[in-house]
Amino acid sequence: MLRKCFSCGKPAVVYLQYVDRAYCKSCFLKLLVKRLRKELRTIKGLTPASEFYVLKNGLSSFAMRMLDKAFKGFHKGVLVSKGKGLKLASQGFIVLEPTTAEHYILQRFQYLAKEKLWSKQLFNPLFKTFLSFEIVNACKFLNIHCRIASLKSVKQSFIKTSEFNALSQFIESLQQSQPNAKFGCIKTFSWIDSLLA
Ligand SMILES: [Zn+2]
Repeated sequence: MLRKCFSCGKPAVVYLQYVDRAYCKSCFLKLLVKRLRKELRTIKGLTPASEFYVLKNGLSSFAMRMLDKAFKGFHKGVLVSKGKGLKLASQGFIVLEPTTAEHYILQRFQYLAKEKLWSKQLFNPLFKTFLSFEIVNACKFLNIHCRIASLKSVKQSFIKTSEFNALSQFIESLQQSQPNAKFGCIKTFSWIDSLLA
């Protein structure tokens, strides 16, 4: 069955299972920009006028395009390598690290499992509320090349591979039983952060 866009009624091109809604290209991108703005508002000290940096990775071009949309072209971040980003972050500059919901959740669960404090992180995650498949679709619609790193790339040194694999299986099984599970995890982590702030 051909679905119609939830917002405008045009033929839909992407289906979001977690809300049981389908969207056309332009409404889907608008939805993501809105979500990104919400994310950006939670980053302390970040305004469209502030100086900030974006780590170079497979999602850099997507990040730059989305930031441009979210900030309406008023400001552009500067892309930096991880080494330079570490230096800037330790000097107190805002450094954003393009990620995905899956990477972010997996990172947080590792800290949780080892009772380590997440607040010590130097980089601000960007796209922590974007599921991988949403990024892949958005890049396709925007004609941008993106490369989402494998989940293994977020494995922390303090966790064993077997524990890491168990955690990633646990998250996927949560998601299969409940389409909203990943967003639920992110909300819970945000709530924990607000208590610790
Ligand atoms: Zn639409």
